[in-house]
Amino acid sequence: MNTPEPASTGHFIRRIIEDDLKTGKTGGRVVTRFPPEPNGPPHIGHAKSIGMNFGLAAEFGGVCHLRFDDTNPSTEDVEYVDAFQRDIRWLGFDWGQNLFYASDYYERLYTYAVELIKKGKAYVCELNTGEFKEYRGVPTRPGKESPGRTRLVEENLDIFARMRAGEFDEGRYVLRARIDMASPNLHLRDPVIYRIKKEVHHRTGAVWCIYPMYDFAHCLSDSIEKITHSICTLEFEVHRPLYDWILDALEVYHPRQIEFARLNLSYTIMSKRKLQQLVEGKQVAGWDDPRLPTLAGLRRRGYTPAAIRDFCERIGITKFNSLTDVALLEHCIRDELNKTASRVMAVLNPLRVVIDNYPEDQEEFFDAVNNPEDPTMGSRKVPFSRVIYIERDDFREQPPKKFFRLAPGQEVRLRYACYITCTSVVKDDKTGEIVELHCTYDPASRGGASPDGRKVRGTIHWVSARHAVQAEVRLYDRLFLHENPAEAEGNDFLRHLNPNSLQVVTGFLEPGLVSVNPWDRVQFERLGYFCADGVDSKPGQPVFNRIVTLKDSWGKIEKGSAG
Ligand code: ATP
Ligand code: MG
Repeated sequence: MNTPEPASTGHFIRRIIEDDLKTGKTGGRVVTRFPPEPNGPPHIGHAKSIGMNFGLAAEFGGVCHLRFDDTNPSTEDVEYVDAFQRDIRWLGFDWGQNLFYASDYYERLYTYAVELIKKGKAYVCELNTGEFKEYRGVPTRPGKESPGRTRLVEENLDIFARMRAGEFDEGRYVLRARIDMASPNLHLRDPVIYRIKKEVHHRTGAVWCIYPMYDFAHCLSDSIEKITHSICTLEFEVHRPLYDWILDALEVYHPRQIEFARLNLSYTIMSKRKLQQLVEGKQVAGWDDPRLPTLAGLRRRGYTPAAIRDFCERIGITKFNSLTDVALLEHCIRDELNKTASRVMAVLNPLRVVIDNYPEDQEEFFDAVNNPEDPTMGSRKVPFSRVIYIERDDFREQPPKKFFRLAPGQEVRLRYACYITCTSVVKDDKTGEIVELHCTYDPASRGGASPDGRKVRGTIHWVSARHAVQAEVRLYDRLFLHENPAEAEGNDFLRHLNPNSLQVVTGFLEPGLVSVNPWDRVQFERLGYFCADGVDSKPGQPVFNRIVTLKDSWGKIEKGSAG
């Protein structure tokens, strides 16, 4: 009989690290790094990588560096450097003293390039862009050698020094690694490792006019920092031979590169370039628009760091590209807020209801439970009076079968308050629209008691018109109608924008909500989880963002009130 397999020790990268620690390959060290290019703000895809790199380091008693791979001055900005730092901290991770920039290594990288030239492993090439492409060839046919390939070391050194000194215009020369013009892997066909760029860098200013290419700077930065496990996304798998070649050629410390599948999320886009297009085209209100998958957007929407970390745990780490259903992310935030968010009542599409047998000048306060999942959250008093608002959807003049909410002659329970029965409907003479309902209430049902054991199937929420506070409520929905807009045919993701991704309404809320703080999260019963907008809310005047709807609210309330 086979002995059962030991419980899974987790994903493949965790197992690689465990093995390396067992065999002593890294001298017992675990040093990972999170290496963003500061050319756009962090998004939830980055969160997956952040969670893994910082998480693994913490798990194995190691450290995780934050390193900005800032090798392209034309697309990078200090704004994004700050955004990454802020959002990594927000997610709950800390790089301690280990904050680095590839640009801090420019001098050393230059020295490494000189060393490669001296070893005959790099040369200056004068081909223009068109020629360069033509000489490189295609994977199935070997490329052609650049005339620069046979240039003498001394001459290469001389031209490279003059490139640095600013003697040449952009595009006049590049420095290339001398590898293999016949390799089926195009990344090994003498890739460019330095180019002239007469641009001011956000950290080094105008000191440099040549900049290392990402592939050259990245592996050497990893090496300089003695990273043990250099974890990156799958598209870098084909770059790995180059990563290894450069470190071997220079005979320097050699981390191990490991690739995993990036996160793709349904009904959204993650590429920085496409996100930028949305922001610049004003399709969204900015980088922190609550519909964007940026961390700033998710935060503004009301997502918590814990829910995002939970999501990143649940999706796991694999080698296969796939599309993760955004419903899983929504599930994670619901799961958390179900336990932590206070329930309150708010009516977003109001219909006025007059309770004819309730005295005009009377008011009373009913006890309402703050969170049925957590008795320690206690209860509050909710005011009730003769005129209330209910959701328009909770009334049907001609109710279909199994419509247990309010209808003419039908009785319904007002959450926490009493039973009411609809006696008449008032309509607008001209439009025929229902403007008001008249009801009677059963005094014996006050406070939710069930008089004579009578069964009332439906429970609806409400607010007292006289006591309600009005607030702007932003109903956010998915930004795209297409499941995978980036891959949709026609190559025009903008065509798939959801025209109703934001609907702004005036909500009528129970009065206690005037005192919520910005960023507070609550459940509007039966409607969803909402967050007081952290930017636009004013004292006493909150603005609410819908984080997510409550998929199963009906089922729950029906069950709860059946007994
Ligand atoms: P984009 O394609 O959006 O520009 P990028 O890969 O160029 O993204 P970087 O700033 O270079 O973004 O990424 C920093 C780190 O985050 C890299 O290690 C990268 O592998 C990782 N990363 C980026 N996007 C994702 C994603 N969608 N899922 C997982 N990891 C990601
Ligand atoms: Mg990148």
